[in-house]
Amino acid sequence: MERREKLYEGKAKIIYATADPDKNILYFKDDATAFNGAKKGTILDKGIINNRVSARLFQMLAEHGIESHFIEQLSDREMLARKVAIIPVEVVIRNYVAGSLAKRMGRKEGEKLPQAIVEYYYKDDALNDPMINRDHVLVFNLATAAQIDTVREVALKVNQALSEYLLARDILLVDFKLEFGTYHGRILLADEICPDTCRLWDCHTLEKLDKDRFRQELGKVEEAYLEICRRVCGEI
Ligand code: UDP
Repeated sequence: MERREKLYEGKAKIIYATADPDKNILYFKDDATAFNGAKKGTILDKGIINNRVSARLFQMLAEHGIESHFIEQLSDREMLARKVAIIPVEVVIRNYVAGSLAKRMGRKEGEKLPQAIVEYYYKDDALNDPMINRDHVLVFNLATAAQIDTVREVALKVNQALSEYLLARDILLVDFKLEFGTYHGRILLADEICPDTCRLWDCHTLEKLDKDRFRQELGKVEEAYLEICRRVCGEI
């Protein structure tokens, strides 16, 4: 399957059309941004790692009956995916306190939550992705009630399968962001699942092995991405 015209360029990926109107090619870049684009940089080979890690995790989720846009990995930086219409709601699932939750609630990072928290954010860069709730989703027609209920249910299933898979590889799934799309009337998990979109800590040392190393300038960013790739995908 070959790339046709560029459809969209985002912060981390470029989306290309293919000869098949139902399929796109996602090209993973090394560009890194944080704080809604205010901090910009490059993480060497991040695109290769995020493509490989996302492909492995989408395959694993498919084995758990969770459908996604993923079809196959085409090359180091390219993934073939079903062409979904993205629902403009970012879904964040949290297992431990970190990031904006620590700030919002005045709690220390690392506290284990008694149950997972699901949050919704309106996907709009100009507005800085504001946090919203289910009522906003319905009133502003971002998704139907049936769609957002499916999204929540699938997100919690992803959390269960992903937490177990990662813990077996000595990785704590602190929190993560998912996006969903519609595809011929179905809801599919979309976007990517990788160290850009998840907080991943070593389960013994609690060392951060994700994009927080870039956001907080902790150093050893590339090393952390490689370590996640090694643990998730096996030797590289
Ligand atoms: N996240 C993301 N994209 C965003 C915002 C958040 O992938 O635009 C991920 C982030 O990596 C973390 C989780 O969602 O794993 C929760 O992020 P949080 O709300 O704490 O925001 P942040 O601290 O990243 O601004």
